[in-house]
Amino acid sequence: MKELNAEPYNKQEISGKDSDFKDYFAPMSLKEAVELLERYAPAVKVIAGGTDVLVDYFGRMYKIERWLDLKNIEELKKIEIRDQKVEIGALVTHDELEKSEIIQRYFPVLRQAAWDIGSPQIRNMGTIGGNIVTSSPAGDLLAPLMAYDAYFVLTSTDGDRRVRAKEFFVGPKKNVLRKDELVTKIVIPILSKNTYGKWIKVGKRKALIISSITLALVISLNDKGLIEKAKCCLGSVAPTPFEVEEFNSLMVGKKMEELNYEELANVVSKSISPIDDIRGTKEYRKDVAKNLTISSLKEIERMVRVD
Ligand SMILES: Cc1cc2nc3c(=O)[nH]c(=O)nc-3n(C[C@H](O)[C@H](O)[C@H](O)COP(=O)(O)OP(=O)(O)OC[C@H]3O[C@@H](n4cnc5c(N)ncnc54)[C@H](O)[C@@H]3O)c2cc1C
Repeated sequence: MKELNAEPYNKQEISGKDSDFKDYFAPMSLKEAVELLERYAPAVKVIAGGTDVLVDYFGRMYKIERWLDLKNIEELKKIEIRDQKVEIGALVTHDELEKSEIIQRYFPVLRQAAWDIGSPQIRNMGTIGGNIVTSSPAGDLLAPLMAYDAYFVLTSTDGDRRVRAKEFFVGPKKNVLRKDELVTKIVIPILSKNTYGKWIKVGKRKALIISSITLALVISLNDKGLIEKAKCCLGSVAPTPFEVEEFNSLMVGKKMEELNYEELANVVSKSISPIDDIRGTKEYRKDVAKNLTISSLKEIERMVRVD
């Protein structure tokens, strides 16, 4: 195998303490990154913005000897439109996502969720790829990505594979990513111009709080004002971000004003399986889910009328 970027970089980049470190790699290209990953997996930790991984590391949840820092890989930092799809590099930060005109124009629900993450410092460092791979049921970008039917490109030395957001998350902090793979792109199809959406995050305060419940609603209408596609996805109410499957079939072919909001909200509330924790009881979350669904539908109906 060709000699890779095997010389450790300056270990000070991570923490200043070097007793735990064997190697620290910061490759300039994706090709080199996946080769390093293949060579050292599983004994290497990928790091992007570090906002999750360093908190765990300094909390000594695990020891890390080898680091693969993605920060120099420019090809993972772009947001581009290609073939009626938007491709978002895994290293795009929450701040860049929130400021992107493309995201604002086509995926306002995702933009709003990015804005709602943590504090300005966290939004400047944290990345969309990191949020996805951490796979917390409370990860704020996950329900919007599901609601927009995103898929993720996972890359290894074998090439790329695509996994739909809906199939990526398999349990709390668990996903289908292999140890020799990186998430490299998030791809979202552009929906019809008559698409409306609503994002709501409920927490006890705006900044630095894990969500007690998040809701992402995306509805597309055809030229006659009939619903073509409707997705209702929630976070923090189940072991993984969650799509209410029935929602679509109850809405397709109808006009907004023909919908029974109470009935739809009950479907949402019944389909979730939240836990009791310090952020709220199960009953509280079910009630909140119901109320959020009704208020989001009303808001979308208002947007449709104004348009
Ligand atoms: C104070 C604070 C507040 C926060 N508030 C919020 C909030 O409001 N909402 C929210 O959703 N999150 C929040 N977070 C969590 C965190 O900021 C996000 O999950 C963030 O998106 C993680 O991105 P990162 O680039 O920092 O990931 P990192 O910490 O670098 O990595 C996270 C995980 O993903 C892996 N990884 C990263 N990138 C890749 C890749 N491209 N391919 C393969 N593996 C990869 C790493 O190995 C690690 O396991 C908060 C964190 C802190 C410390």
